[in-house]
Amino acid sequence: MDKELFIEKFTGKLPKDIKSASPQQLHDALGKTVMEMFADRWDNARQQHLSKRRAAYLSMEFLVGRAVYNNLLVLGIYDEVDEAFRELGIDLASLEEIEDAALGNGGLGRLAACFLDSAATLALPLDGYGIRYKYGLFKQSIEDGFQKEDIDDWTRYGDPWSVRCDEDTVLIEYSGQTVKAVPYDMPVFGFRTENVGTLRLWQAEPVKEFDFDLFNKQDYLEASREKIYAEDISRVLYPNDDTDEGKKLRLKQQYFFSCASLTDIIRKHKARFGTLENLADYISVQLNDTHPVISIPELIRQLVDNEGFTFEKALEMAKKIFNYTNHTVMQEALEKWRTDLVEELLPRIYSIIIQINEALIADMYAAGVQKEKTDRIKIIKGDLIHMADMACYASSHINGVAEIHTQILKDSVLADWFSLAPEKFRNETNGITQRRWIALCNRELSSLITELLGDDNWINVLDRLRELVKFADDENVLRRFIDIKQGKKQQLADFIKAHDGIDTDANTVFDIQIKRLHEYKRQLLNAFSILWIYYGIKDGSIQDFTPTTFIFGAKSAPGYRRAKAIIKFINEVGRIVSSDPDTRDLIKVVFVQNYNVSYAEKLVAAADVSEQISTAGTEASGTGNMKLMLNGAVTLGTFDGANIEIVQEAGEENNYIFGARVEDLEKIVPEYDSRSIFANDPMVKKVVSSLIDGTVSDGGSGDFRELYTALLDGASWHAPDHYYLLGDMRDYVETKLRCIKDYSADRHAFARKQWLNMCNSGKFSSDRTIADYAANIWGIKQ
Ligand SMILES: *Cc1c(COP(=O)(O)O)cnc(C)c1O
Repeated sequence: MDKELFIEKFTGKLPKDIKSASPQQLHDALGKTVMEMFADRWDNARQQHLSKRRAAYLSMEFLVGRAVYNNLLVLGIYDEVDEAFRELGIDLASLEEIEDAALGNGGLGRLAACFLDSAATLALPLDGYGIRYKYGLFKQSIEDGFQKEDIDDWTRYGDPWSVRCDEDTVLIEYSGQTVKAVPYDMPVFGFRTENVGTLRLWQAEPVKEFDFDLFNKQDYLEASREKIYAEDISRVLYPNDDTDEGKKLRLKQQYFFSCASLTDIIRKHKARFGTLENLADYISVQLNDTHPVISIPELIRQLVDNEGFTFEKALEMAKKIFNYTNHTVMQEALEKWRTDLVEELLPRIYSIIIQINEALIADMYAAGVQKEKTDRIKIIKGDLIHMADMACYASSHINGVAEIHTQILKDSVLADWFSLAPEKFRNETNGITQRRWIALCNRELSSLITELLGDDNWINVLDRLRELVKFADDENVLRRFIDIKQGKKQQLADFIKAHDGIDTDANTVFDIQIKRLHEYKRQLLNAFSILWIYYGIKDGSIQDFTPTTFIFGAKSAPGYRRAKAIIKFINEVGRIVSSDPDTRDLIKVVFVQNYNVSYAEKLVAAADVSEQISTAGTEASGTGNMKLMLNGAVTLGTFDGANIEIVQEAGEENNYIFGARVEDLEKIVPEYDSRSIFANDPMVKKVVSSLIDGTVSDGGSGDFRELYTALLDGASWHAPDHYYLLGDMRDYVETKLRCIKDYSADRHAFARKQWLNMCNSGKFSSDRTIADYAANIWGIKQ
C-alpha cells in the first residue's frame, strides 16, 4: 500500500480538523478510501467469475459482522492503516463504535459469511445472494434481568462497504403488487489473493416512489402507501432462529430474493452466451436451508414462461443446478407453506409447484416405489407445501453439516429420500474462517503461532497448527500461551466493565456459553449446574472450589417465552451467588448484553472452557464450538454435532464429555420419567425446585412455574423434560467440577489440553469445507 496516497485520499474525505471527526466519519472515509483503492481488483475478479463455471450461495441470512477491521486484515493493510491513523493523531480502535451488520440470527448466517471468506481466499468463483434488511437482528439490553429489544438501524451512519447497482435492478411480481429489487454489492476480499467475491444483497423499493395525484387530492397517507408496502419486504430480518414464522411477509421475502437472484444469474448468462441451453454447465446454486427453495419453481417459471423451454426440460435443468443444505433436525424448521397462501400470492409459482409434485409422483410410479412412500415424500401433502421435499427432489446434492447430523438425516429426517437416492447425500462438516476467528480476534496468539512455525502461512493452511503439537510439553511455550490467555481474559474483563458495567476477575476460570438462547442448547442446564455448585459450597459437599466466572451471551427470539424466562433465571442465579458472602468471591455469573459477532470475537479468545451442552442429536453442527477450540479452550460438552469430531481430532482426554449419547437416548426416551429423577436425586430436586419455591423471582409473570411444569409434567405439545436436562444433570455437574478442579490443580496440565485443542483444530477451517463443496458439489475450480 502506498501510505502517502492513502493518507491523501483518506484525509480528503474528512473535515479539516481531523481530530474532531466522529468515529462514523472516520469509518465512512476509511471505507470509501479502501473501496477506491481496490475497485479495479474487484472489477477484474467479477469478470473472472463470469468467465467460468461459478457457484451462487443463496441465503436469507449473512451474519457478516463488522467489516472494517476484517477488510484491513485480509487486504494486508491493517498495520499500515493503524500507523497512518497514529500519524494523523487518531485511533483505529475508535471504530469499535461502528455497528455490526447483523443480517442473520446465528450459526446459519455466520456460516454463510465464513463460506464467502473462504471461497474468496481459495480463489474460487463463489458469490452470495441475500436480502439487505433495513433492520438487522434486534439489539438486546438486559434490564432487571429481563431481555429488552430495540431496533438495529445498522446503516444509520452510512454503509461505505456497499455499492448500489441500479442498472441491475429486477422487477418482482406478486399478484396485485410489483416492486423493485435493487442490488447493493459488498466486496468479499480474499486473503493473499487477487480474488474478490461479491455479496449481492437486494433491497425492496417501490416502482413508483410517490403518487403525486393523490397527494394533490390531499390523500397524503395513500400517496405514500405503495412505498411503505414495497419497503416492508426488506424492512426486517425475522428474529427467529429455527422456526417457521408462517408469515405471508416471510414468504414474500423468500420469493423476493430468490426471483431477483435467479433473474440476475440468467441475465448475466444470456449476456455472455446468448442462450440458456448451457446454463447448467456454468452455474451451481446452493440453497442454504429451505428458505430459498422457492427458487426451484421460480427458475422453472423463468425458463418456461420467458425462454420457451418445456416444463420437462426446465425441471431437468433445475435438478442439475440446485443443491440443498439441511441445517437442523428441528421439525419446526422444515418449512411448510399453506397452498392457499402460495396460490393467492404467487399463482403461477403455485401451478408450477403442482407440476413438480406431479412429476415427482410420476417418477416414483415409474420406478415402482410403493404408494405409501410416495405419499410421505410428495411435495403437496394435504394443504401444505413441503419445501424440504421439493428441495430433495429437485437437487443434485443434499448435505448435512456434521457427521452425526448427516447420519440422522439418512436414518430419520430424510430417510425416505436417502433410500431413493443415496448417491445424492453428502456430509460437509461446517467450518469457520481462521482469518476472523483467530488472526483478527487474537493477534497475540497468532503472533506466537507465527513465531513458532517460522511464517504465517498457517492463516491459509490451518492444518499446519498440528506442527505445534510438539510444543505441548515445552514449559516455556506453555507459559507464554498461559500469559496470552490471561491477557485476553483481562481485555474481555475490561470490555465487560465498559460495555455492561460489570466487574469480573480475570484470575478466575472463564467458563463461557455463547449462542442463541434455545431450549435444546440447554442454557437452563448450565444455570442449574451453577445453582448446584452454590448449594454444594453452602452445605460443604463441595470444598476448595476454584473461583469461576460463568459467562453467557445469547439472544432470545422476542416471542419465545420460555427462552426469555431462562435469561431471567440465569440473571436471578447470578444475583443469588453474588449477594451471598460465602460465594461471591467464588462464583460470578455474567450475562453480557447484545451478543453479536464483534462480542464473540472478544469472548472466544478469552475462554478457558467452552460450554457445548445441547441434548445429543439436536445441534446439527455448531460453529461456536470451533471458534472457542481454535482459541485454545477445552470443550465441556455432549456427544453432539461437531463436538464429536472436535473430540476425535483433539482427544477425549483433552476435553470434558458427559451425558447421554444419541444411541442411549433412543433407549431412554420411551421410558423416560423426569419425575423419578426429581424424586430420587435430592440435589436435582433442590435446584429444579428453586424455580417455584421462592428462591428466585420471575417478576410475577408465572414463567418460572411454566418452566418447572415443562420439566416435570410436559405440555400438550411435548413430553416432560423434552431435552433431558434432569437426566444429564448429575453427570454434567460432576464433569464440570472435574474440569474446574483440573484447571487449578495443575495449570500447566490444563493449558496443555487447551494448547492441544488449538493445535488440532485445523479440520474446522471453513477453507476445508469450501474446498470440498467446490470439488464435490459445485464442480468449480480456482
Ligand atoms: C458463531 C456464532 C453463532 C453460532 O454459535 P453456535 O454455538 O454454533 O450456536 C451465533 N451467533 C454468533 C454471533 C456467532 O458468531
